Amino acid sequence: MSLKTRILGLAAILIISAATASWLAYRQLSSSIIERWGQQVAEIQVRYDSARLLQSLEREIGLARQMAKSSALVQWAQNPDAPQRQAEAIHQMESFRTNFRDKSYFVALRSNGHYFYNNANNEYAGNQYRYTLNPDNPDDAWFFQLIAEGRDFHLNVNPDTELGVTKLWIDVLMRDPQGEILGMVGTGLNLDSFLQDIVDIGQAGITTLFVDYNGAIQLYRDRNYIDFASIIKPEGQKNTVDLLFDTPQDKQKILGMLQLLKHRQGQAGAVESGFVTVDGREHLAGVAFLPTIGWFEITLIDLDTLLPASYLWPLIGVFLISLLVSLLLFHIIIQSRILRPLLALEGGVKRLREGDFNLPYMPKPDNEIGRLVDHFETMANRLQYNTHELETEVNLRTEELHRLARVDALTGLKNRRGIDELLEQEIQRAARQNQGFGLIWLDIDHFKAINDHYGHQAGDEVLCRVALWLKTCLRPYDHPGRWGGDEFVIVLSPCDPQTLDQIAHRIRAHVEVESQRTGTPVTVSVGGYYGQPGEGLDTLLRHADQALYQAKQRGRNCVFIRRPQNEPIRPA
Ligand code: GH3
Ligand code: MG
Repeated sequence: MSLKTRILGLAAILIISAATASWLAYRQLSSSIIERWGQQVAEIQVRYDSARLLQSLEREIGLARQMAKSSALVQWAQNPDAPQRQAEAIHQMESFRTNFRDKSYFVALRSNGHYFYNNANNEYAGNQYRYTLNPDNPDDAWFFQLIAEGRDFHLNVNPDTELGVTKLWIDVLMRDPQGEILGMVGTGLNLDSFLQDIVDIGQAGITTLFVDYNGAIQLYRDRNYIDFASIIKPEGQKNTVDLLFDTPQDKQKILGMLQLLKHRQGQAGAVESGFVTVDGREHLAGVAFLPTIGWFEITLIDLDTLLPASYLWPLIGVFLISLLVSLLLFHIIIQSRILRPLLALEGGVKRLREGDFNLPYMPKPDNEIGRLVDHFETMANRLQYNTHELETEVNLRTEELHRLARVDALTGLKNRRGIDELLEQEIQRAARQNQGFGLIWLDIDHFKAINDHYGHQAGDEVLCRVALWLKTCLRPYDHPGRWGGDEFVIVLSPCDPQTLDQIAHRIRAHVEVESQRTGTPVTVSVGGYYGQPGEGLDTLLRHADQALYQAKQRGRNCVFIRRPQNEPIRPA
């Protein structure tokens, strides 16, 4: 895996890990914010819904209470058989009827169980007595139950089968000045329109319901859950609020809230809230007690409707885009600041390793890699310089060694190897140009005696002097060399036989004359041979050697030139 892939992979893992941690922290934080926000919303909503209910009921309850205290009604209830009192009372009832919102009322007398009623259409004008309540009739049980309980005020949702209506009944006890219960008065509100106005107001995600003191459902958008005539139902048969919740824990939770609020009745505006599950969806439940009517108001807020998950999509979008942008920026920075310079540096190192000092372009970012590239270039330049210096030095030394290997240490002339190479070249040149050249082989006469007589050191000096005299006699382009011992070889090129002859004689004479001036007179025997194109080294040397031999044979201190035809040009 390349460095680039590894770095980008690592960056992606780090960014995703950090983002996941941030996301979890965000979820935690946001859920606690939502919880607190939801609780406040629930409290506000509960108070708002309670206020709406009370607003619409308070006036009716006040009117019903007034009606219960009306002296005309109280006096009539005390003497129900007095026609005059009944007429006044009915007159009074009718005046209240026009004030009630529902334009209806009921009055029930305890003494004779007579039940009076009239509605918005004034349907029962002059015939307000409807029927007599019977303690044995279950439909009438509510009346006797409320009287038995002595509750001055009660709200009751109940279908009146006799009248064929379902209403939210406001029941107020009528008492004489001594507090004795005389009967019950009140009005009803059409349940359907009431539910529509107060409960089922179509606020998305918010469900409002009212339950009585015992938790029995009184007002709820689904009429099937309403616990009609709960006053007369025994415990255990009531439609209580816990029916709405899915889990036993939630049922317990909501009933617990009711209990808590019952204990805190004195605390105005107290609201309890908590999370519950309704129809498989998480809701926030807010509960408040309404002391005026003795009911609880419950508001259920569907969090998913109020704060749908789709609200988070822009956040997820922003996260994904920032992740992509971060990776892209990271890639660009890593590419330009690290990877590209490193790859170029690797290319440079490869070239240098192969001995190529021609380095490629290497970017130098302003960081450690840039400095590394800088050091590498300096190092490469120094290495190139040193290598060049070394090569030059080695070449010089090699040339010197080459030269020394071909030079005679004593005389400074070419040695035998030098003469050999020179002759090889000359043989090739002669063949190429079809032109001969001269070869002289000379030997100091009786040199052994010089050594013996003057010493080896003096012998060496003689050798050096002879070398010097040879050079004096030669042209600048002729090559003298010491073959070994007291023998010298000279290559004359370009040359013709006459020149060979002249130079050979000149040498012999010059050595003789010059040596006279020193304390050690010497003579040399000179053999010469004019080499022909095509002749090999051995042939040439043999002929020259034989010429020298001839010179020695002829008494020394003479010249013998050997022609290819074996004919001497001039005998010494
Ligand atoms: P000939 O006339 O026949 O040449 O007699 P020669 O005495 O010169 O005999 P030859 O050439 O055979 O002897 C060469 C002598 O040169 C033998 C050796 O002792 C001496 N010699 C060889 N190399 C050196 C050297 O480097 N220095 C000195 N001083 N003597 C050398
Ligand atoms: Mg000799």
